[in-house]
Amino acid sequence: MCYVSTLINYRLLQAVSVTRIVICPTCGHEVAWGQQSPFRPFCSERCRKIDLGAWASDSYRVPVAAPGDDFDLPDITPTRPE
Ligand SMILES: [Zn+2]
Repeated sequence: MCYVSTLINYRLLQAVSVTRIVICPTCGHEVAWGQQSPFRPFCSERCRKIDLGAWASDSYRVPVAAPGDDFDLPDITPTRPE
């Protein structure tokens, strides 16, 4: 086997064997992204439940920009049909 094909085979092997690692959003532990991690991106069921609980209790909110002084709301006055 020549050097180039050996090198290509080695690179292919590397690409296949490298497991993607993600960080658990709750505790920060590394989690392998694959069949071995059924709760991914969380490291465990416990961390997943903690995160779900945080959303349910409103700890997480989607940031909304507060209107500044230069933000003019249109003057909408409810009118009654006559
Ligand atoms: Zn975790």
